[in-house]
Amino acid sequence: MPHVYTLADVLGAPQPLVEGERVVIYDAIGGRQAMVAADHLAELGRKVSFITTLGQPGPNLAASRDWGKVYGRLRRMGVQFRTDRELVAVAAGEVTERDLYTKELFTEPADAVVMVLGSSAQDSLFHRLKAAGHADVHLIGDAMAPRRVSDAIREGERVARRL
Ligand SMILES: Cc1cc2nc3c(=O)[nH]c(=O)nc-3n(C[C@H](O)[C@H](O)[C@H](O)COP(=O)(O)OP(=O)(O)OC[C@H]3O[C@@H](n4cnc5c(N)ncnc54)[C@H](O)[C@@H]3O)c2cc1C
Repeated sequence: MPHVYTLADVLGAPQPLVEGERVVIYDAIGGRQAMVAADHLAELGRKVSFITTLGQPGPNLAASRDWGKVYGRLRRMGVQFRTDRELVAVAAGEVTERDLYTKELFTEPADAVVMVLGSSAQDSLFHRLKAAGHADVHLIGDAMAPRRVSDAIREGERVARRL
């Protein structure tokens, strides 16, 4: 659908590729990624609704203990949080959400929807180098599996210590 976007469409270019004023961000992973996307779009003046299947927006911010600061900043910019909701339909100009527990349906206007559902490992370069016969090539960090920055640092250090 032309008005459904990815995180890369929001953050991967100097200006977001996302068009339209009313943007729904749908987060199913609970990391900082969707919060950053909401912040960026709200700062540009978009009306942002943050929908998540989780009971709290961005629960992984607990690791850095800055959720209060982030919630405050986003709310002051007008971001509306809706938790415990799944997206069940996306149509031109509106989305339909369902409360996970009451099963109640809600529709809200949306010119654009940004899906933050996680990503897959981009490991093709590693496999090409291995296939070309390079022995000293290591797969670490998000290229192995998208996770947290601490995983990438730990794996990088482990490889470096073996060199
Ligand atoms: C918006 C956002 C917020 C995040 N917030 C957090 C957070 O709060 N806490 C946390 O723990 N994690 C967070 N993450 C995840 C974290 O950023 C990643 O897990 C981490 O950066 C992975 O590190 P990496 O070195 O494996 O990959 P990357 O940081 O992606 O680095 C890979 C590098 O390789 C370069 N590259 C790619 N292909 C090539 C090529 N062919 N040739 C040369 N260079 C190439 C890329 O340009 C990039 O610079 C966040 C991610 C995003 C997108």
